[in-house]
Amino acid sequence: MNGLEKLSKLSGIAKPEMQKIWEEIQENKKKLNSCSFHEFKLNSDRQFNNLYICQNCKGTVRITEKLWYEQGIAHAQKKEVLHGKKA
Ligand SMILES: [Zn+2]
Repeated sequence: MNGLEKLSKLSGIAKPEMQKIWEEIQENKKKLNSCSFHEFKLNSDRQFNNLYICQNCKGTVRITEKLWYEQGIAHAQKKEVLHGKKA
């Protein structure tokens, strides 16, 4: 039994559906990793558990990931201003 089969058994989600979810996660990761600068905007297609979509790479993240990304940029800018260093 491989990892996908175990996840399928534990979650009750059929293996083909689990495979599809896995591929979507990998595709999203690829988009996000290849982007040079994310500009996240709320994807209003969903009513609950909102996702934010990058206007450049079309990768999606949850609000916590968006907030950490934006805080990282703010801290890098502050560090550069205060210490004249690039982060
Ligand atoms: Zn992006």
